[in-house]
Amino acid sequence: MTTLTKTEGEKAPTGPDSFLSVRDLRVRFSTEDGIVKAVDGLSFDVERGKTLGIVGESGSGKSVTNLTVLGLHNPKSTTVEGEILLEGRDLVTAPEKELEKLRGNKVAMIFQDPLTALSPYYTVGRQIAEPYMKHTGASKKEARARAIEMLTKVGIPQPESRVDDYPHQFSGGMRQRAMIAMALVCDPDLLIADEPTTALDVTVQAQILDLLKDLQQEFGTGIIFITHDLGVISDMADDLLVMYSGRAVERGSVREVLRQPKHPYTWGLLSSMPRLGADVSQALNPIPGSPPSLLNPPSGCPFHPRCAFTGEVPGDRCSTERPSLGEGRAAACHLTAEQKQSIFIDTIQPRLR
Ligand code: SF4
Repeated sequence: MTTLTKTEGEKAPTGPDSFLSVRDLRVRFSTEDGIVKAVDGLSFDVERGKTLGIVGESGSGKSVTNLTVLGLHNPKSTTVEGEILLEGRDLVTAPEKELEKLRGNKVAMIFQDPLTALSPYYTVGRQIAEPYMKHTGASKKEARARAIEMLTKVGIPQPESRVDDYPHQFSGGMRQRAMIAMALVCDPDLLIADEPTTALDVTVQAQILDLLKDLQQEFGTGIIFITHDLGVISDMADDLLVMYSGRAVERGSVREVLRQPKHPYTWGLLSSMPRLGADVSQALNPIPGSPPSLLNPPSGCPFHPRCAFTGEVPGDRCSTERPSLGEGRAAACHLTAEQKQSIFIDTIQPRLR
């Protein structure tokens, strides 16, 4: 299992297999309207060969976290605090030149839309070959052979001729495969996949997910898989981090979190998911309200304006006291362990059948 975090904010030592260790990460943007707290004290680890899923609604901080890991934030308007330890080296304080060397080499990213990552002006083969030449010093000939090898691995037919095609000559699914080939060409130790299959139809989506799993097995890559789709995450991830308002609100193995979720926000995400075989006349249960403003987040538990269970917590703790996330398998919520279990069994589980 991927080693998950110690207490939020704690500077825990990196585990023996931990390739990436993020500790108490805080990311703030300066805007005309004030300071946006996009990530607010987040900690997690990723091991080689394992997948950490990160789920949450838009604006929960999942994508910002990963762009920050890659050093792709704007340093002029963004403040980053905490530690991002890649094999023990802190990327928060690393110079841009060092980050440039890491990107595409040790750490690579697959985006939702391949058209934002692939240039329309260069052939697919050239775009796969260039990072390989840059990071390994390979010759043009070697890099072209490597590009063909990668296109073969990701299942592009006739790779010897398709290597000279431009992105517009590829279908959407093929472009996504080409982007995966580009991301994996230097055998990165860590791959960040941000909603990599959202724009694809279900069949192609399943093929791409299988491909990622196969490549992970072959290369031993650690993957951070960002999505809002809990169905996809159950298939892909070893461990799961549920994010809300820039923080982790629940974490554990993917099996634990999806089978016995402990946080009202995770209950909401699961209840709002369409299920195969469910009575079609049965309404979905969307989470009421909208995600909070990160300019002016709510006091206490950030989920309290949308939570149906604040009445179960004595006093006004939900609106005044921020719950912390404990160690290991944990949920940041003031409900007692017994309350979480009985509410889940009596109220939430029946909705998930
Ligand atoms: Fe709901 Fe209170 Fe738990 Fe927050 S702390 S999730 S508001 S019950």
